Amino acid sequence: MCGTPLKSGVVEGKQRQFCPNCDFVDYKNPLPVALAIPTRNRRFLLIKRGLPPRKGAWGFPSGFIETGETPEEACLRELREETGVSGEVVRLVGVIRLEDKELYGDMLVVMYLVRVGDGEPTPGEEAEDAKFFDIDDLPPYYAERLRDVIEEVQNEPIR
Ligand SMILES: [Zn+2]
Repeated sequence: MCGTPLKSGVVEGKQRQFCPNCDFVDYKNPLPVALAIPTRNRRFLLIKRGLPPRKGAWGFPSGFIETGETPEEACLRELREETGVSGEVVRLVGVIRLEDKELYGDMLVVMYLVRVGDGEPTPGEEAEDAKFFDIDDLPPYYAERLRDVIEEVQNEPIR
């Protein structure tokens, strides 16, 4: 901030970069991500990722929360951008830490269960595909980690 080269040392119990001249400390923080778990009629809407990390893998719509946005707004925006459909937040599912070794490092992921409105999903610019999955066809990664959500969605009324 003042132009003095940073030094390495222990600040508040951790090895960090700091400025020996002013009080600046280069804290490292996780990037905030909002993730939608979109459902309709007991099925889950996933996208085939068109960008790294995990390009080509099926996953839930997600992206970085932008300045001025609430996590809910970011979640619904990412859903619209990546699948072309809108939705409404049902509830907060959880907040987890993920480490992306490919690109972004530490991430704080805010996950919402989202009820998807009408219309057929169409992949946005950052997605190769977007489609509904039956519960039995979900990637094993999600099937294991989201057991309580899956149970909840399994008992939803069909519209
Ligand atoms: Zn300084």
